[in-house]
This record gives sequence, C-alpha cells and structure tokens, in this order.
Amino acid sequence: MSETAAAETRQFDTEVHQLLKLMINALYSNREIFLRELISNASDASDKLRFEALTNEALKGLDQDLVIDVRFDAEAGTLVVSDRGIGMNREEVVANLGTIARSGTRQFLESLTGDQKKDASLIGQFGVGFYSSFIVAERVTVETRRAGDGTEAGVRWLSSGDGEYQIENISLQQHGTTITLQLRDEHKDLLNGWQLERIIRHYSNHIAFPIRLDEAGKDEDSKVVNDSQALWARPKSELEDSDYEEFYSSLTGDPEKPLSWAHHHVEGSQRYSLLLYLPGQAPFDMLINRDEREGVKLYIQRVFIMDAAEQVVPRYLRFMRGVVDSADLPLNVSREILQDSPLLKKIRATVVKRSLDLIEKLAKEGGERWDRFWKAFGSILKEGVIEDFEQRERIASLLRFASTREECEGESVGLDDYLARMGEDGDTIWYLTADSRKVAENSPHLEAFRKRGIEVLLLTDRIDEWLVAHLDEYKGKQLKSVARGKLDLDDDAGEPDEAARELAGRIKQALGEEVGNVQPGTRLTESPGCIVADEQGMTLQMQKMLRQAGQEVPEIKPDLEINAGHPLLQAMAGVSDEKQFGELSRLLFDQALLAEGGELADPAAYVRRVNVLLVEALSAGDDEKGGGDGQHAASS
Ligand code: ADP
Ligand code: MG
Repeated sequence: MSETAAAETRQFDTEVHQLLKLMINALYSNREIFLRELISNASDASDKLRFEALTNEALKGLDQDLVIDVRFDAEAGTLVVSDRGIGMNREEVVANLGTIARSGTRQFLESLTGDQKKDASLIGQFGVGFYSSFIVAERVTVETRRAGDGTEAGVRWLSSGDGEYQIENISLQQHGTTITLQLRDEHKDLLNGWQLERIIRHYSNHIAFPIRLDEAGKDEDSKVVNDSQALWARPKSELEDSDYEEFYSSLTGDPEKPLSWAHHHVEGSQRYSLLLYLPGQAPFDMLINRDEREGVKLYIQRVFIMDAAEQVVPRYLRFMRGVVDSADLPLNVSREILQDSPLLKKIRATVVKRSLDLIEKLAKEGGERWDRFWKAFGSILKEGVIEDFEQRERIASLLRFASTREECEGESVGLDDYLARMGEDGDTIWYLTADSRKVAENSPHLEAFRKRGIEVLLLTDRIDEWLVAHLDEYKGKQLKSVARGKLDLDDDAGEPDEAARELAGRIKQALGEEVGNVQPGTRLTESPGCIVADEQGMTLQMQKMLRQAGQEVPEIKPDLEINAGHPLLQAMAGVSDEKQFGELSRLLFDQALLAEGGELADPAAYVRRVNVLLVEALSAGDDEKGGGDGQHAASS
C-alpha cells in the first residue's frame, strides 16, 4: 500500500464530537489546562517507555535522557509539545485519538456542571485530556512513532475538531510524539515565554521529566522550567507546605488543596518512601467505582510502575492519594507478583496505619476541615469496620453519628463521646437505624429513652445497618438497637398486668399470621404501638435494604409491642364486637409499620379503614350536636 493510499478521513465517535463541543464552551475561561494535559500525556508516554524498556530488549537505551519540549512560534501562531516517549502506531492513534475508550466518558458528559472550575477539575480526572487542545487550537496535528519498531513508520493525525480527522502514514526518524497546535487568533497571546513558563510551573512543576521551553528562531539554549526531581524522594526538611500542595495538584488534578498529608522515608531491612494525601473532596466517581481503585502510584527506584491502589490501599481507604516508592521490589514486577509480595503487604499495613493516623489527627482537631472530611468520606470509612477486623475498634472510634442529645448538631457524636456521657455503670450503647433523620427523630421507639434521659445514636446512612451488624461491641460495651428484643431499662415499669397480656393476646388473634408476637412493653409512652425486631432477627430496615439490593429475604413477621396504658388500647379493651376489634387491631399494626418508615402491603385498605373511622367519629359528633340542639329546641 502506498503512503497516499493510506491517507484517509474518518469521523470521530459521536461521543467525541459531543465532548469537543461541550468542552470548548465549558472550559473557555480555563483554557490553560490544555497545556497541563499535553504535558501530562508526554510524561505518561515517557513513563511507559521507561517501564517497557525494563523488559523489552528493543527499547534498551532509549529510556535515557527523556525530556519534554515545549516550543512556541508567535509569528506562525503555533505551540508544539513533543516527547521521546513510547509513541503510537496507526491503530493506537485511531483508538486513542478518535474514540473515547473509557467507560467514564458518558458519566463525564453528564456530570459537567457549568461551573467552570469544577468542570476543569473533572477533565483531569477523566482522562479526556488530549481533546482539551481544541479549547485554544483551530487545528491540531499529531506526529508520532512507536518506539522500538525499528522502522521509520510514523503516523500523522490532523483535525480541526469539527467532527472528523485525517490520518496518514509518514516517515519519522525519531520515536515519540509531537503535537502541534495552530492557535486561534484570540489565544495567540499565550505565545510568549513568561506566560508559558508561568503556566508550566503552575500546573506541571512536579512532572518527573525535565520540561524545556524555547522559542522558534531564537538561538539561546532552551531552558528547563520545572522542578523535575521526584518530590517524594527528597528529604522532608527540604520541602515546604507549598511544595506538597503543588505536587498534590499535579498528581491528582484536584484544584482544591489536600486536607493533610504524611511523608515518610522508611529505612531498615526494607526501604521505601511513602507520600500520602487526604483529599478535601471526593472525585465524582468514588462512590460508584467501589472496585476500581486508583490514586496511589507505585514507583520502584523512581520508575513509575503502575497505579497500585488495589495492592496497597484497602477499599475503605480508597479516597487516599499518593505515591509509594520501593527500593527493594524487583523492577520487572508484575501485578500477579505484587499480589503476593510480602514486602507489599508490609507497605500496605503501613499505608493503613499512616492513613488512620492522618484521619485521627484531623478528628482531634475537629472543626471545618474535619466536617469536610466526614461529609466526603465518612460512609466509605465505615466500610472499614466491616472489612478490617484488625482495625475495627480504631476505625469505630473515628465514626460520627447524629444523636438524640439536643445540643448535638448533625453527625458529630463519636462512640467515645457517648461512653463518656453514659458514665461508669452504663453498659449499652443504644442506637436506632432509620431511612432518614426525620423518621428517626419521630420514631416511637425513642419515647422510653427520652422519658429516661438516655441518649440514642441515630443512624441514617445506608451502610449503617451493615455497620452495626458487624459492631456489636465497642470498648467492652454492647451496641444495641432500641428497636430490637426486650428492653431492659430496669426501672419502675414492672411486669405487665394480666389485663394487658390478655389484650395483646386478642390483638394477636385478630391479626393472625400477619404479625409475629404481640406483647405489652415499656418502650412507649405516647404512641399506642410499635414494631420490634426479635433479638437475633433482622430489623425492618435491613430487610428493606436487602430487598432493594435484589436479594431474596425470607418473610419475617414483625413483632408488635403495645402500650396498654394508651387511651386507644384502653378503649379497644372495651370493644366487644370482634369485627370492629379486628379493624382497630389492623390499624394499630399498620400505623406502627408506617411510623417505622415501613411499607404497607395494602396502603389503600389502610386509607379506607381510616376513612370509615373518621366518618363514624364525625357523624357521632354530629349526632351529639344534633341531639343537643334538638333538646334545646324542645325545651324552649
Ligand atoms: P488519558 O491520558 O487520561 O488516557 P488523554 O485524552 O489525555 O487521556 O489521552 C488519550 C490517550 O492518547 C492516552 O491514553 C494515550 O494512549 C494516547 N496519547 C496521548 N498523548 C500521547 C503521547 N504524547 N504519547 C503517546 N500516547 C499518547
Ligand atoms: Mg492525559
């Protein structure tokens, strides 16, 4: 096939087309990020070459002197970014620069907010970086050659970003990639030395390869403008907060500052460096992609090996960001080897410990920074109680909950606060799980506790049911649901009397199979009845969650506790018509389910029953009134 025959025009994927349009508009005022994206790609390509050169003979020697060049020509209106990295062959060019292979793209498109700052940070996180060139360029040309092919077979890709691109084979002497942007007139002001230097230092200062900047037609030597040493490998004493913050931003693309960080050089039989960051906000996809963890990079002797978040951070710390650099792992390590490496297990244990240290410190400080952390990552951290048996108590001590204590706003009560208030002789940490704060606060289950001034933690996060299923004890005290089993609040309530027991028996008979047990109890002071889970059984809330998750849950009959002293129950005791008694029992039961945030099997029937009663009550009122008037009329 001749070279010209290999030239063709192709359409972008529709998604790319859509993305380009959106991006150019949404990011117009954040135009500078395009350079960060191109440099980051050049750096990735250089990392890849270095990594492949470890095992591929054909690449030996090519991994020396990797630099990134930025050249500008104000007269021609062009900006060129080139690298000596891995390069691409024709297939790779088509796959990488004509489609969006990543599954996150649609999510990205949907999550554009119109807030330019936020949208700009999303771009970095999603890896749609290359296309950001079109924010400033009217035409983009990519010339690239795969390293190690041993031929001069290169590829040229060219597009104006309007739906299609041209691609042709060319011959190139050097491997690597050169990207030439023809800037639109209104962006040509970018083409001056101090402006570009500022942008590179701002966004790409900590890229681990030298970035050289030079101007076309000038004889001066090009100058290196970034600080290309691996920051994590430097002694802590040399580094300022601002260095750490800048590095974080180049590592994550997060425009916000990190909440805190930890930097350690571990010496001894195994040597490694660790730089961990606690971010201030969750990347958009954190909660969705529970299993696709990224964000902790593994280097071996400063060579980037892979994103090793899965190997070094447990799931419940998946928000951590940073770098691990080992001096002792073999350079040709594979994912499989990593999986079983004892050294990596050690590193992982240290990462866990240091991360929890950071979180603990933040918790002690409290205040706005802690609140931000808790809002963004609290639910994720809770997974640790379930997954990490060894750290269970430590993680549990970091959790915060809402509480019935009036002075406690939001989620601010830790288990240790609870213990401290409970005093020496308390033996139970009481909690209530519910769908929402509102349902929790109004739950009839709290009546007995309010009356006795006992604090109850209100757990309304989806994961809380699982959490308490794994945490039945904290520092030797039992955690117990207020909605479960017999309440032992050891006070004056005493044993229910015979009459109450009999009434409960009648209600059970009236409800039949619908209900488990019906018992008089001490939970209630104001409500007539409430649902109680048995000591070992699942709460209603848990059953509901399992069903929502598509699991088969055996039909578990809820128990009903009645408040025999309530006027409704006292009135029911006097009803001799069994049919009417049955209707009232049904209502009592349905109400108890509703108050729990539960669902009725037949809501329409409930409404009908209530209406019948309302009509009866109102017409009884009318009768009395009518009768009175009549008498009055008669007597006058
Ligand atoms: P990301 O970098 O997140 O993968 P980009 O849109 O920035 O997304 O780049 C898309 C892909 O294009 C990259 O994954 C890479 O395969 C390829 N690519 C981009 N720039 C270069 C380059 N300078 N050298 C080699 N490959 C590149
Ligand atoms: Mg990129």
